[in-house]
Amino acid sequence: MTESLRVGLGYDIHRLETGRRLILGGVEISHEKGLVGHSDADVVLHAVTDALLGAAGLPDIGELFPDTDPAYRGADSRALLQDAFGRVRSLCYTVQNLDIVVHAEAPKLSPFKRPIAESIASTLALDADRVSVKAKTQEGLGAIGAGNAIACTVAVLLARLPSEMCDGR
Ligand code: MG
Repeated sequence: MTESLRVGLGYDIHRLETGRRLILGGVEISHEKGLVGHSDADVVLHAVTDALLGAAGLPDIGELFPDTDPAYRGADSRALLQDAFGRVRSLCYTVQNLDIVVHAEAPKLSPFKRPIAESIASTLALDADRVSVKAKTQEGLGAIGAGNAIACTVAVLLARLPSEMCDGR
């Protein structure tokens, strides 16, 4: 059995402003600021979505779900991720693992690493041990270090199922 492996890289950044909800990886986190965006601005799920799409050679999140389209105003990024993952699965790819780095000065994210990993695993119907979440501050440097933005970097490894095992879902 030959197994085709594909690596993907995703990155996203959103501004933080007062008066917005902070949602990271589908988990709502209490903080004085939240992320600004056309959808719910879940920077983690956007980076995960782009990593999956890139690994499968599909168009990126901005092409599939343009922020000029009113249909995606306030959209739940879990729905966008599930839509994108459905396209990836239809090409017979399965996720080997997702490795996620969230770049944020505040709030402290260590208590949320496991809930975020479990949330993403649940959204994608994966075993939780296939999703790893790390949190890094920026040592006070730049917009992220000043608490004005949160960014996320994601690596994913996909494996293509042999055609007899692919149900094309
Ligand atoms: Mg985004």
